[in-house]
Amino acid sequence: MSGGVIIIGASHAGSQTAVSLRQAGYAGVVTVIGDEAPLPYHRPPLSKDFLSGEKSIDDILIRPAATYAGADISMRLSTRVGAIDRKAKTVLTDDGHALTYDKLVLATGARVRRLPVSGEDLAGVYYLRDSADVTAIKARAQTAKTAVIIGGGYIGLETAASLRKQGLNVTVLEAMPRILQRVTAPVMSDFYRRIHTEEGVQILENVMAAEIQASKDRLNVITACDKTLPADMVIIGIGVIPNTDLAEAAGLTIGNGIAVNEFCQTSDPDIYAAGDVTWHHNPIYDNHIRLESVPNATEQGKTVAAHITGNPKPYNSLPWFWSDQFDLKLQIAGLSSGYDDVIIRGNNESGRSFAAFYFKDDKFIAVDAVNAPRDFMFGKMSLTKGANLDKQKLVDSEIDLKSTVIKP
Ligand SMILES: Cc1cc2nc3c(=O)[nH]c(=O)nc-3n(C[C@H](O)[C@H](O)[C@H](O)COP(=O)(O)OP(=O)(O)OC[C@H]3O[C@@H](n4cnc5c(N)ncnc54)[C@H](O)[C@@H]3O)c2cc1C
Repeated sequence: MSGGVIIIGASHAGSQTAVSLRQAGYAGVVTVIGDEAPLPYHRPPLSKDFLSGEKSIDDILIRPAATYAGADISMRLSTRVGAIDRKAKTVLTDDGHALTYDKLVLATGARVRRLPVSGEDLAGVYYLRDSADVTAIKARAQTAKTAVIIGGGYIGLETAASLRKQGLNVTVLEAMPRILQRVTAPVMSDFYRRIHTEEGVQILENVMAAEIQASKDRLNVITACDKTLPADMVIIGIGVIPNTDLAEAAGLTIGNGIAVNEFCQTSDPDIYAAGDVTWHHNPIYDNHIRLESVPNATEQGKTVAAHITGNPKPYNSLPWFWSDQFDLKLQIAGLSSGYDDVIIRGNNESGRSFAAFYFKDDKFIAVDAVNAPRDFMFGKMSLTKGANLDKQKLVDSEIDLKSTVIKP
């Protein structure tokens, strides 16, 4: 097979790149190679509606099969790429094919970080990244009564909420002093601790898992402080590592991910990267970052397609994200890291709807909005426009959001 665009990774970034290429009029061969069996599917529902059984794999497909067929996009699923030969401009698949490309796109995403303790590979211990993982978790959850979740980040907490809703007794272990510590302010951690506790989830912070032992048909999680937590199943969610191996072996520049420019080109101009795997410059924050978010994967897929089809549009998107737990829809716009002040609007202490606005050097930088879509939309729009907000007005929820904008 010769020429065209080959995309490695059949998920959010890969699917978007392929479809955007066709939408932009690309007439060459487009091939998407992915090592999972299903067509590209939405990954966020895995820890939410797919885990709770409300949605099937068909319900969460990003696009139906007919879209790829209709756009003449060749989907080579259950196929892994083992190597890239940049000189010959070929990729080698594990089933022994060498495919030639004009342009190559690495949309290889990320894989789970493994917990470095003994017993993490026992039967009944799960990681959560793909639909096969969650299918196995769902099967076990049908008979399990008790689950221990190691990791109190968004995925751990969403999984806790889904399993709790199914009636399991759930304990979350977080090694850091507070849940969500890596990604948000203490006020958000306090809020989610309260909600989970109210819903019957046990949250243990500052507690490290030291070992997992099999005990008859159950498991015991042994903590570093020598506590034993019995469980029918254990789920580990302690973050991900970008899949940079192929790029590294091919000699491309790597940072905290595959380094790309504003057009998502790697250090080889014929090779692009998009999605969770990229280490890119965000012009809004003037910082090099790696994002784990669907909107980023989608936008970067579009950026790649635009550049390949000769209509370059530099990537310039505001990071945004969401998380669903119980009846709470958290929407996040911007990056709060480095903040020095947080203004709360609404009732975070006893209610279930509020927003946290983050500031750095008196400049508005991010918002976390819980069941507060107007605050989210307003914050997102203000950040996109570079508008600053008046903290004194913001704190008073009687004052209309629009009048909190500081006129330049
Ligand atoms: C449980 C869960 C919940 C999430 N919730 C949210 C949320 O609420 N909101 C949000 O914005 N984001 C969420 N995310 C993150 C979001 O899913 C990711 O940001 C998104 O999937 C990134 O898409 P991607 O295409 O870059 O990479 P991925 O989705 O990681 O896909 C990469 C694909 O490439 C394949 N691959 C890798 N190497 C090879 C190879 N050598 N050959 C062939 N195939 C290969 C992988 O198997 C995978 O299928 C969640 C993620 C998970 C796991």
